[in-house]
Amino acid sequence: MTLVSARPPVSTGELAHNGPPTMSRSEIEHIQRLLPYLSYPDGELALDGVPAERLWDGTRPLLVYLPERAVDNYRAIRAAFSRYFDVSVYCAIKCCYLAGVLSALRAAGAGAEINSDLEWRIARKTGFPPQRIVSNAVARPAQHLETLITEKTALIGVDGEEELDRTEWHARHLGVTPGILIRVNPLPPDPFFSDRSKLGTDWDDAFRLLERAAASRHLDVRGVHAHQLVRCADAGQFGELARRTGEFAAAFSTASGRHLDIIDLGGGLESRFLMERGGLRIEEFAAAARDALGCLPSGIRLVLEPGRFIFADAALALTGILGTRRKTGSRWLITDAACNLLRPTSDRTYPPLPLHLTDGHHWIRCHVADPTCAPTRLWLDALLPQDAAEHGLALIGCGAYTMVRSSVWGTDLPDIGLLRDGRIDIVFDHAGQDTMVRSLYGVGLGDGTDDP
Ligand SMILES: *Cc1c(COP(=O)(O)O)cnc(C)c1O
Repeated sequence: MTLVSARPPVSTGELAHNGPPTMSRSEIEHIQRLLPYLSYPDGELALDGVPAERLWDGTRPLLVYLPERAVDNYRAIRAAFSRYFDVSVYCAIKCCYLAGVLSALRAAGAGAEINSDLEWRIARKTGFPPQRIVSNAVARPAQHLETLITEKTALIGVDGEEELDRTEWHARHLGVTPGILIRVNPLPPDPFFSDRSKLGTDWDDAFRLLERAAASRHLDVRGVHAHQLVRCADAGQFGELARRTGEFAAAFSTASGRHLDIIDLGGGLESRFLMERGGLRIEEFAAAARDALGCLPSGIRLVLEPGRFIFADAALALTGILGTRRKTGSRWLITDAACNLLRPTSDRTYPPLPLHLTDGHHWIRCHVADPTCAPTRLWLDALLPQDAAEHGLALIGCGAYTMVRSSVWGTDLPDIGLLRDGRIDIVFDHAGQDTMVRSLYGVGLGDGTDDP
């Protein structure tokens, strides 16, 4: 037995083993090429042209959402695909429940993709009509299924035999015929949607499910649903999903003589700014789908359910640096914003930007991590001006799967707000967090001692 663990070969001196490449100095200095709402006029980071200093006093970290960017991302994907298809875009709201963001998307014409009764209620309360909601789930409570059916939800995704039986049973009892999609995993198994995953159904089983559903008088089978990608930044892979899903639908139509009018390719795309940073544009995904599906016969509609692509780069976190430390020759910047909000999914999840670009400072390699006593990191091997720690950082790409999965744990949550018309509307603050602490844990953090 050896006490020295095997290390992966690292010749560059970098600590990070996964995640996107570190931003170069020129990428940071020209950040508006990647995210048009960010820039450095006079060397100070500005959001929508307003200096961060004017929006944020620096005392507590702040997660800022830009609803306009989410809308722009929605318009980009819809425009790209509508060149070739009759397309409907339902944004996967599980990425972000913030009312100001969802209502902006709804006002721009987007639909909502939901996974539960909670998400149904959030979508309805933020103004999405049932006819612009798509529901996907592996299993649903009876009450929720009845609501989806009676309210005439646009599409109900069915994943598995029992869920098909239950959907049919409720439809028959309610006397309403819901429009359904049958979920299939048309690509070979992968780590996320493998044979050991509860999600989706392989080709043969999904085919039998489709036959059974089509034979029911109580169900209106509209098409097939294939959500089998994760952070996809490869138009070829997306095209392959489209091709296989199209073949699946065509095989069924040929065998049954029955016309399906919807192909739903799910979500699973990489965030827009990372995709574009890699030189890829959403137009190439649309072109790949066109090549894969040919020209769909008229009357066939494409459905997309992007989540990360819409929400990820529509928020950033402004954070102070609590301290720095040196360890084995590396410099660490310890942020105030923490993993209770910013869940790390790789060694480099949230690219850090300096708040000031001052001439005459060296740029140095450093690691950015949160202050919790967990081995989490926000971005390893960052390149930042030497004085970055004095001013704080902006962490970009914080809009998807962050706030929705935040927990009151370890350290304070940041304030959360929306940037609209050049000012921040705060929706969550210290007082809101204290209310959560009281409701969750029974601890009153106000003045005085609470006698439990
Ligand atoms: C999560 C999910 C999406 C959105 O996924 P992203 O990776 O965020 O784009 C879309 N459809 C279904 C069925 C999902 O479960």
